[in-house]
Amino acid sequence: MLGLYAHIPFCSAICNYCNFNRGLFDAGQKSRYVNALLAEIARAGQAGRAGQAGYIGADTIYFGGGTPSLLDPSEVARIISACRDAFDVAADAEITLEANPESVDPGKLAALRNAGVNRLSFGVQSFRDAELRRLSRLHDAGRARAALAEARDAGFDNISLDLMMWLPEQRVDDWLASVDAAIAAGPDHLSRYLLEVYPNAPLKDDMARARWSQAPDEDAATMYVTAMERLEAAGYRQYEISNVAKPGRESRHNLKYWTDGEWLGFGCGAHGTIGSVRSKNVSGIDEYIDRVAQGIPVRSEIRRMDAAERLGDVLFTGLRLTSGIDLETVRGRYGVDVWERYRADLTPFVDAGLLLHDGSRLALTRAGMLLANEVMTVFV
Ligand code: SF4
Repeated sequence: MLGLYAHIPFCSAICNYCNFNRGLFDAGQKSRYVNALLAEIARAGQAGRAGQAGYIGADTIYFGGGTPSLLDPSEVARIISACRDAFDVAADAEITLEANPESVDPGKLAALRNAGVNRLSFGVQSFRDAELRRLSRLHDAGRARAALAEARDAGFDNISLDLMMWLPEQRVDDWLASVDAAIAAGPDHLSRYLLEVYPNAPLKDDMARARWSQAPDEDAATMYVTAMERLEAAGYRQYEISNVAKPGRESRHNLKYWTDGEWLGFGCGAHGTIGSVRSKNVSGIDEYIDRVAQGIPVRSEIRRMDAAERLGDVLFTGLRLTSGIDLETVRGRYGVDVWERYRADLTPFVDAGLLLHDGSRLALTRAGMLLANEVMTVFV
């Protein structure tokens, strides 16, 4: 079953740390963009139905951005319907929409639910107003709490929150205050990301000007481990390096990225993977709209991965999961005995307590997750 990803690249303001493919909201451009998305989805469906593409069934739809909650619910409904017309979308498909707290209200949330969205992912980032201001976010903690409550009232029973860790001036207790506030808000799923300050991000200048610093590395490790312990005590289960969920509320769409799954990406800059073919659409919003209008392919990159690259990818992403890599499945699919091939390089990590090898599985321990990149370099 495929995942279908639709990229919505519009934002009300550009956050000082953002490195995503996005632009400032423009109502006219948004309408043209939605029409282009509908056309791209229909074309992909035609190729699938004609048997040219080797896919047709889908069980997840994911609106990512940018800020997908800036779409009108009627536009969301049209995009979901286009997906259902173009593909055999499962009746119980997971349909996620990323939302920013300041861009929703009770009426809009109810309309999104009616449009078919059944999972919301809120970009909360922090429950501390000073931290949100440093990130130039448009919402405050009160608005984030209210948005979550409004989403529950609108009938959403599958809600995720994003929190960002290692923010400027954030100390361990500040971070844990946000984690506790998130637990009190009661989402079904929570993603925690480490802030990366990119070299050309305006945040870098803001930090230099205001003399904001990030906590030392060892504090970041404490933040990660302590947050995980509190989340587990509150009934969440870690299933991926950065993600926890209540039982049965893991992100079905994101799991496709980590379990050798297949997905199609629609919209500017969207990526897709079908079998060994990885593709990416043109990044520019206007270029994307123009290409669709002129019937020119929107893909700017199409790359066939060789067997070694695919295997490396499967091992790299598989280690992100707490369930780790199922060695038999990999042997069946890629004909490689991973333990035999990498035993010499992996054994020091096993001996150091960073990696577990129980014969059938290879998985990072919690301590190993802090040093995941070092372990993963064995495979790439
Ligand atoms: S809302 Fe998200 S995508 Fe938009 S600018 Fe901020 S971080 Fe980037």
